[in-house]
Amino acid sequence: MPTTTPVVHAIPVPKDNYAWLMETSPGNAILFDPGDFGPVAEVLHQRRLKPTHILITHHHHDHIGGVTALADHFGAKIVGHALDAKRLPPLDLAVKDGDTIPLEGWHCDVWATPGHTVGHVVYRIGDALFTGDTLFSLGCGRLFEGTAEMMWASMQKLRGLPGVQRIFPAHEYTLLNLDFVLKLEPNNPCLPSFRQWVLEQTDKGEPTLPTTMEQELRCNPFLRADRSDFVQNIGMSGKTGVDVFAHVRTLRNQH
Ligand SMILES: [Zn+2]
Repeated sequence: MPTTTPVVHAIPVPKDNYAWLMETSPGNAILFDPGDFGPVAEVLHQRRLKPTHILITHHHHDHIGGVTALADHFGAKIVGHALDAKRLPPLDLAVKDGDTIPLEGWHCDVWATPGHTVGHVVYRIGDALFTGDTLFSLGCGRLFEGTAEMMWASMQKLRGLPGVQRIFPAHEYTLLNLDFVLKLEPNNPCLPSFRQWVLEQTDKGEPTLPTTMEQELRCNPFLRADRSDFVQNIGMSGKTGVDVFAHVRTLRNQH
């Protein structure tokens, strides 16, 4: 039986994306959001892993650019949100909010998280949550298609998911987000030690991901828009969660 903490590898894809590679059974793996064929195929060959499934979080090109070529090359099945089927490569398995699908001996939960795009989904396998462009370390995706109300509801949904420990976003934005969060909430006691670690990782050229739900609940302003300590820290006492979320999202856009 698989453990509940799958082995996951980061595959950097230009310029700041990650495709995530999760080992399932000996020699087999699942890919998330491979935005390019070359760098992903190279890692698969190096690690002698064959992808059986490719899971897509949303339709943006930097997440799907390598999907069709990889699926053809390795014979992998393509999985994505039924709602966005017309904007995704041809799906072998169309999923929807609340589905649980079996994947190579694992169970994968699917949740819709509209906001960045209206058809965005996240996937949970074991303790690992693959969040695409919905949730980043210390950040969230821009509202390209959805409203602040939709994205705030998605943030609250992510906060309540059972069993999630590690979070695997699709972009290396931690340092940029940290710079913003330090200005927004300079007295957050968790930030100095985290900053030190982020700088060390960056100096070594190593990913700052995955992050953890525990860490994000302490430091990510977009998950904390209704938390009294945070709202007080940024001088917005008395405002609703969605108002605070929308305000912080606007500040981040201007940063
Ligand atoms: Zn995107």
